[in-house]
Amino acid sequence: MKKAVRFVAIIMSAAVMLAGCSAAVQESVGIAENSGQQGSGVGETDSGQQGSGGIAEESGKQESVADEADSKQQETDEAEASPADLGLNTDVKEATQFTIDANDQVYALLDFDDESELENAKRGLIAAPDELEIKTDTGKVAWSQKAYAFLEKDAPHTANPSLWRNAQLNHIYGLFEVADGIYQVRGYDMSNITFIKGETGWIVYDPLMTVECAQAAFDLVKENIGDYPVKAVLYSHSHVDHYGGVAGIVSEEQVNDEGILIIAPEGFEEHAVCENVYAGNAMARRASYQYGTLLEGNETGSLCIGIGMGQSKGNTSYISPNTTIERTGQTLTVDGVIMEFQLTPGTEAPAEMNTWFPQKNALWMAENCTGTLHNLYTLRGAEVRDGQAWAEFLMETLKLYGDKAEVVFQAHNWPHWENKNILKYIANTAAVYKFINDQTLYYLNQGYTSTEIANMIKLPDELEKVWYTRQYYGTVAHNSKAVYQKYMGWYDANPVHLRQLSPSESAKKYVEYLGDTDEVLRKAKEDYDKGEYQWVAEITNMLVFADPDNTEARLLCADALEQLGYQAESGTWRNAYLCASQELRFGTNTDEATRAASKGGLASHMTPLMILQYIGIVTDTMKIQDLTFTANIILPDDSYVLFVKDGVVLYEKGALLDDPDTTWTTNKAGLFAIVNKDEEAISRLVTQSGDETLLAKLLEGVTGFGDAKYFNIVEP
Ligand SMILES: [Zn+2]
Repeated sequence: MKKAVRFVAIIMSAAVMLAGCSAAVQESVGIAENSGQQGSGVGETDSGQQGSGGIAEESGKQESVADEADSKQQETDEAEASPADLGLNTDVKEATQFTIDANDQVYALLDFDDESELENAKRGLIAAPDELEIKTDTGKVAWSQKAYAFLEKDAPHTANPSLWRNAQLNHIYGLFEVADGIYQVRGYDMSNITFIKGETGWIVYDPLMTVECAQAAFDLVKENIGDYPVKAVLYSHSHVDHYGGVAGIVSEEQVNDEGILIIAPEGFEEHAVCENVYAGNAMARRASYQYGTLLEGNETGSLCIGIGMGQSKGNTSYISPNTTIERTGQTLTVDGVIMEFQLTPGTEAPAEMNTWFPQKNALWMAENCTGTLHNLYTLRGAEVRDGQAWAEFLMETLKLYGDKAEVVFQAHNWPHWENKNILKYIANTAAVYKFINDQTLYYLNQGYTSTEIANMIKLPDELEKVWYTRQYYGTVAHNSKAVYQKYMGWYDANPVHLRQLSPSESAKKYVEYLGDTDEVLRKAKEDYDKGEYQWVAEITNMLVFADPDNTEARLLCADALEQLGYQAESGTWRNAYLCASQELRFGTNTDEATRAASKGGLASHMTPLMILQYIGIVTDTMKIQDLTFTANIILPDDSYVLFVKDGVVLYEKGALLDDPDTTWTTNKAGLFAIVNKDEEAISRLVTQSGDETLLAKLLEGVTGFGDAKYFNIVEP
């Protein structure tokens, strides 16, 4: 495990340290607690939040780092070695002339006179409050468009003008008419919520990520269109920004009492539960870089991420689907509204579907078309997606509905109208994914490796100019690496890379060979002054990995990453560069508020099998490698044999041994108690017979991830 230690210890206040020091057990409890509660949202410092504790925190850190620098200065004054003395500091910097020039070139590449996307984003506006700020019961800001008022001007030098324009369009919020009887509330969360009027009530598509945002959106609809009952809710796919706000639309009691349909594609619940659990701790930490939850929303901070402004920070919720869509062409009529479905598994999500509304010639594209280039690989970390399958499903959409569709709309960004535009919209979107897939395979078959391909691949000129497939969320470069990974895996066939030294090991050897690191830093500063930010980031980060106390290397690396952030067209890249820059300046941010949202309510839907899988994941096998035993696990509706072999957790479903070493009679809550190492709950919920020491021995290995909640990223 990589620990956030030295810098953090100096910098963080005692209170923040306490917040970051939750033990393994507490971390694990969080998982079970979510099952019964609404999970809490993401951090106070997410994009969009001005102030909210982040500023005070920041100024505190600034002082501390200044102290750190002072004491370093004293140390070096006393010692004979002189520092490189490059005049570096922790201030947020202006754009350099190189960044200004790079951003100016974007105006030459793209047709900024083409305002069709702006017209689409505004079309059909029915109502919007002058200011939008949504708060939770406790007064915490769950969502704010007010915080983005700074966008209402031309792009500053510190922002790629293409990303700035996309942020401006995502800043357009309110209630919109998409087609007769189809309405969307946009800009009330990262995603859109859609209301389809039936004969007597509403069919609600993708009820946003958090309850407060969904409630506010529903209120806007009630005020302006009318207060009708909800007849059905549909989840287009298994990502939290498409179901987490459901309790703001209907309650579980209403669903049961009034027979409200909760519709989802096959495999939805399994994937919704799994995607964020097994690698969840690491994903949550990495997601704070992707979504920029460490940053303020401003001209030198977070802007948007191409599919919205960022994550909302209210409470998430979950209600299980009661109606599953199993095949393409399947239809469902609810309250007089006919819906025909196209399943698209393995595209943007493992369980996803589009909907065709034949009565309205309207096509819902879920998140398969989003008005930006999406991710074949997502920076928070996830399994890669299949660009070829994605393109083929879009071609199937064209075949099924292309000749009839008069409007296409989806869960992020704005609709597109008129058949001729729609055909182009879907075909262009299919083309970019197919291009990335095919061109990567073309290059890799010529022997180019992942990094080489990412640096050489570039969209065909005409596709490059299309506004709605620009690289705001995914990028061609990192998506090409996903294709490489899918087909070739991590290995580039160069055996030097079979067992590389770890970054800090090799960095120390580099430093040993290089000799005078002050001279290296002086050269790096010269290259910084020439605008070579990527190289400067690489060499200075190597110095940081050799010696994380090298303050000047940290600060120069931070400055270089900051300029890369200012130049990035991708909102997720910008966030990642700027978060890394901040952590190099101030140390790893262990503020609880910066953690990405928990997936409230989902853990209780884990099956016993998933919980057993998870027990293996939260166990440090090396700690219990001498432990071998068998246990019969008797659950109310099922049984398992647990084989712990050399500390490894194995199991067999639906079986029982005649002569196990021990038997545990329990239920799901009892299995959760083992995950959480909750001795009190275990004694209450797990009845043991046979050797009762074995469970205690297993628990010695169950450590969870609390200590690793804020692992280092840009330093060892
Ligand atoms: Zn989404």
